[in-house]
Amino acid sequence: EGKMNSNDIKGGISNDKMGSTKIDLSTKTEAEDGKVYFSYEDIHSAVESMVPSLAEFKPTVIIAIGGGGFIPARILRTQLKVPILAISLELYDDETNTTREQVKCLQWFNTSAGPGALVDGGNVLIVDEVDDTRTTLQYCVEELLRKCKPAKVGVVVVHNKLKEKRGTLPENVEYFAGQDVPDKWNCYPWDAAAYGRDIQEHEAISRKCSS
Ligand code: 5GP
Repeated sequence: EGKMNSNDIKGGISNDKMGSTKIDLSTKTEAEDGKVYFSYEDIHSAVESMVPSLAEFKPTVIIAIGGGGFIPARILRTQLKVPILAISLELYDDETNTTREQVKCLQWFNTSAGPGALVDGGNVLIVDEVDDTRTTLQYCVEELLRKCKPAKVGVVVVHNKLKEKRGTLPENVEYFAGQDVPDKWNCYPWDAAAYGRDIQEHEAISRKCSS
């Protein structure tokens, strides 16, 4: 339960039907600190690789899980041309130990007006940057189905860590991952300052992870 093999993953492969541009999603190696650094181009390519299958899903609206899902969702908006709803969920540590147990909902959306009104009866794509234990995604799908009546739900992540998942998703939820990655810590360009680096330093390390 909760386990997925690559056959379950939709999208994520370079698509010849898209024309001459081949999307290179080669596996990155870890940096000296054991973390894997992704560049803006890596993120953009992984997101773009899903566009053909996401277009087939015929989305009505995107729900971006912040902060990591915001930039991937924005990249998708250019291609899918649907509005983005921003939510914020936080997987927080138990006070007693370091096991991350609970998801806290910091921000949801208003269903009575604007793009939020597109969710009921619509094809909804939930976007996040990484599927680690799947806890956050499970929570998000459950909250969505508890509060709304979408016609169809899809989950989109830039990276899916290949590991035993704690969370599960309902059978009828479609799953799209830009790239399957090993179970290591991924560093994303928008977080460069959080690791004490500017974007140029981050991108330089990320290039090293490609060679
Ligand atoms: P979950 O364990 O619920 O799948 O992931 C929860 C959240 O933890 C993700 O949305 C992401 O914000 C954060 N996270 C998990 N693994 C990583 C990682 O390798 N790098 C970064 N930057 N965040 C991560």
